[in-house]
Amino acid sequence: MDLRALTDTCVHCGFCLPACPTYQLWGEEMDSPRGRIHLVRQVLDGADLSEAVAGHLDACLGCLACLPACPSGVRYDQIIEEARVLVETRAPRGPVDRALRAGIFALFPYPRRMVALRGPLSLGTRLRLTGLARRLHPTIGAMAELAPPVRPRVALPARVAARPGGRPGPARAVVGLLTGCVQSAFFSHVSAATVRVLSLEGCDVVIPRGQGCCGALARHAGRSRQAMRQARRTIAAFERTGVDTIVTDAAGCGSAMKGYAELLRDDPKWGPRGADFAAKVRDVTEVLVGLGEPLATRHPVPLTVAYHDACHLSNGQGVRAQPRELLRGIPGLRLVSAVDSEVCCGSAGVYNLLEPEPAAELGARKAAGLRATGADVVVAGNPGCLLQIAAALRRDGGTPIPTMHTAELLAASLTSTPPLSRRS
Ligand code: SF4
Ligand code: SF4
Repeated sequence: MDLRALTDTCVHCGFCLPACPTYQLWGEEMDSPRGRIHLVRQVLDGADLSEAVAGHLDACLGCLACLPACPSGVRYDQIIEEARVLVETRAPRGPVDRALRAGIFALFPYPRRMVALRGPLSLGTRLRLTGLARRLHPTIGAMAELAPPVRPRVALPARVAARPGGRPGPARAVVGLLTGCVQSAFFSHVSAATVRVLSLEGCDVVIPRGQGCCGALARHAGRSRQAMRQARRTIAAFERTGVDTIVTDAAGCGSAMKGYAELLRDDPKWGPRGADFAAKVRDVTEVLVGLGEPLATRHPVPLTVAYHDACHLSNGQGVRAQPRELLRGIPGLRLVSAVDSEVCCGSAGVYNLLEPEPAAELGARKAAGLRATGADVVVAGNPGCLLQIAAALRRDGGTPIPTMHTAELLAASLTSTPPLSRRS
């Protein structure tokens, strides 16, 4: 469906407004899903794509909370992605804004460049102590605040054999793992945990060489040519392995890869391959629940855990029950839910870098909700959310609460390793 037809499906009922975090923040119609759809429609009808219009569209988190809230099934996800292509090509942007965006998209989706950034980012963790970065530019300040502690990188082999229940045995599935871009530079320990859990649950895990960014960051920012290039490369890398299931442990990547059919729909060669690929993509929690009866022993983890729904897992992929089911399967673990658990934390790809003020406000609300649960640890299925929530918890000055990925907690239970042993 083209963009005009997509906007035509909105009947302006307003049911989506209360679900929208930016509408919750500012109460402005033009910062709601309905208002943004109206703006897009006006632009399609010939209105100027002014700085103000671009500002309202830029301020959208792309969190997709409006999708399940809409009784008419309006595909706001497709509307905002197409609208962002218009903004990217037509909206007036100042030279600093343009340079920052160009820098982010020349850096973040490229694993080797991200690895090279590990040193400067550890400097960033020091800069956030001084507040100097914030004085240079809000985006640089946000980078310094979000910078994760630099951990040793875990090198993963090209294939890890199944060890069902911790013993050699036949594989019950063969899966391919996306290691991604930012993830491979800063969250290789999460990929390693995912591989450990999959192997212990009886999966052969193939980690294709030559893979890189899946295109999610570029796609969500309207840089469709870059996104398509990265999607084609990802598809080719996994096609060479012949796997029937492609696993990711990053919600934003999963959501983007499940959308490859849409992204490549006008490409006669890659469109069908994109659709085949998309049909094989699963979040790691979907794979684990889909395997059926667990093979690996769950050791007790006596912690109170608050699970945060990453938007691109819950709203983007409808994956809400599986992570909770897996966490509840860990003996001794008490699962709690924060008020507004499904409201975006403000991470949203690179939103927290480009729109640091609303991102920080949403982060503060999220941190307050999570603190109120009394949780010992916060768990989420998306590295970006983990960075954003960790930064918000640091900023509010309360008692530190560790954050970790669902796969890390599962790996700790399956291998009987204290999950908080390496964290502050
Ligand atoms: S997007 Fe859906 S819920 Fe929102 S105003 Fe349009 S029809 Fe109503
Ligand atoms: S994607 Fe999120 S921020 Fe954007 S309009 Fe929908 S609910 Fe609001």
